[in-house]
Amino acid sequence: MKVRLRNPDREVELAGGRTIHDVLGELEIDPDTVLVIRERELLTRGDRVTDEDVIEVRPVISGGAGANRMKCRRCRAPATIELRRHNAAFCRDCFLRHVREQVRRAIEGYEMLEPTDRILVAVSGGKDSLALWDVLLDLGYRADGLYLGLGIGGYSSRSHDVVRAFAIDHDAHLVEVDLERDYGFDVPTAGRKGSRSTCAVCGLSKRYVFNRAAREGEYDVIATGHNLDDEAATLLGNTLRWQTEYIARQFPVLPAEEGLARKVKPLHRLSELETAAYAFLRGIDYVVEECPLVAGNTQLRYKDAMNRLESASPGTKAQFFLGYLDRAAPLFAAEDDVTLTACLRCGEPTTGRFCAFCRARAQILGERLEEPRLGGEDAGERLEERPPDAPTDAELVRDLSNEVMPIEMYQGVGR
Ligand code: AMP
Ligand code: ZN
Repeated sequence: MKVRLRNPDREVELAGGRTIHDVLGELEIDPDTVLVIRERELLTRGDRVTDEDVIEVRPVISGGAGANRMKCRRCRAPATIELRRHNAAFCRDCFLRHVREQVRRAIEGYEMLEPTDRILVAVSGGKDSLALWDVLLDLGYRADGLYLGLGIGGYSSRSHDVVRAFAIDHDAHLVEVDLERDYGFDVPTAGRKGSRSTCAVCGLSKRYVFNRAAREGEYDVIATGHNLDDEAATLLGNTLRWQTEYIARQFPVLPAEEGLARKVKPLHRLSELETAAYAFLRGIDYVVEECPLVAGNTQLRYKDAMNRLESASPGTKAQFFLGYLDRAAPLFAAEDDVTLTACLRCGEPTTGRFCAFCRARAQILGERLEEPRLGGEDAGERLEERPPDAPTDAELVRDLSNEVMPIEMYQGVGR
């Protein structure tokens, strides 16, 4: 039997004639962290495989249960997917319904979207954001996609391809921004030339471009594909460091403020296993590979820690994050207090004179940040001669931070 493993891609030959449970055992893979796929079918732990089978073990997280094929909780048909956290299994149709239901609950519970809203869905080409776009279209929302080209070699071009293919398939509109073409630098160059980590400059570029594209396209709201695993890992990182400002802003909906579009995370109730299985079962082609620059990222360590807790006690992740939203978030609300003004260079909101994106960009391109580019009306009066701003990471993190920052950015910050 051939077993195809991902991240990194490799193939191993193993004996068949046994259950997936045993195969994963031999590979020392935690069944809670993978989808097992044969042809277009998902296998559960109790399913048997033969010597002739070719299976793919695709990494995600959470899920898995029982040694025998389970029945769908709703309709009693054979189950396709097991969700230990919900202590339940679902057949394909009931699972898709479950996912839409979770998204609907998130949207209603936090009043994220109005039926008439024009939504801009930030789509990376990964499972989460494509699943999100799919669900929103399916629920009847007016949702366009936004793809930001980061210039990360083959990873970016493959991501762009799947996003474009999805848009064509669904007859949906895609807004395309390219960092290199539109702003003169790509993420790998930024990582080499700037004073901040690659992940930091990438994260800040995304937030900047999302907001600007929403404003320029007159969208009411930006939706991102952050899932429960992302949010729980970020909250864990924020809590371990008691980053109270970020904790305060880690919320599934951030209302519009002066110059900032409303932001929503409708997948925050769904785990990575659920979004991956949804994308797979809907036949959505997504990029499985991880960003090659993210290896060793601090956030991944927090995800790993959360997964170990989850594996020992299913439901921990949801209790941690959803419990925070219900019971603890209000306690931090007072920490979220910044005054925003327009960046003197580009007009986007900032807490300083120039926004973090303009500062980072000037540094990468070796330009001086002194002259307003927009001219009189938008940009305010001419500035006196001033050396290029070289903000510390701590300033950078505070600046433009209208949502929680990737953990990566905190390294070396606030000490
Ligand atoms: P990440 O920051 O990579 O964890 O991604 C979080 C969310 O940001 C994703 O679910 C997407 O909604 C969005 N996103 C990430 N990368 C891109 C991209 N290159 N273009 C558009 N949206 C993106
Ligand atoms: Zn700016």
